[in-house]
Amino acid sequence: MARFGMVIDTRTCVGCMDCVVACKTENDVPDGRCRDWIVQQTEGTMPELRLEIRSERCNHCDHPPCVDCCPTGASHIEDFGTTVQIDAKLCIGCKACLASCPYDARFIHVEGYADKCTFCLHRVRQGLDPACVAVCPTHCMSFGDLDDRISAVSRLVNARAHHALLPEAGTGPRIFFLT
Ligand code: SF4
Ligand code: SF4
Repeated sequence: MARFGMVIDTRTCVGCMDCVVACKTENDVPDGRCRDWIVQQTEGTMPELRLEIRSERCNHCDHPPCVDCCPTGASHIEDFGTTVQIDAKLCIGCKACLASCPYDARFIHVEGYADKCTFCLHRVRQGLDPACVAVCPTHCMSFGDLDDRISAVSRLVNARAHHALLPEAGTGPRIFFLT
């Protein structure tokens, strides 16, 4: 079974937000909400400063607390790509998953259910990349099966220095940022 993940090259991301706009359009994300967003983080001291620009979203964690805490089973692991998904019909809007996510990746949709990045599974099922990956003008994002040794994402993770967000949280995030 595939284990979908994403690799994002922080050296070529320019923070243009095309990924954010593409996601909102593709997934009809309501005004005031976002399924992905841009973070700019500066590290070091003058003159050795480094700016990292990251396109962030749900990490589709290997050990997702949002699934463990959901009282109705709305938050679940989908067989296809073993990604973390939400069944809006089962969601009662209790916000337990919002509180449990260390990445603040979820929000309550204007229609009352929890929402977040789906990795655009509706596109992936058609053999397409997620909208954010497809639209990136610098091609800094790659999507694929992390358990396939010859996939682009596996080769990048094996070849390049990288980090994931909040590994100490123990959630097993599946988005890796090349540095
Ligand atoms: Fe759940 Fe948050 Fe991990 Fe996404 S990033 S799978 S919402 S804990
Ligand atoms: Fe589950 Fe919905 Fe409550 Fe989140 S808000 S824990 S998806 S019932």
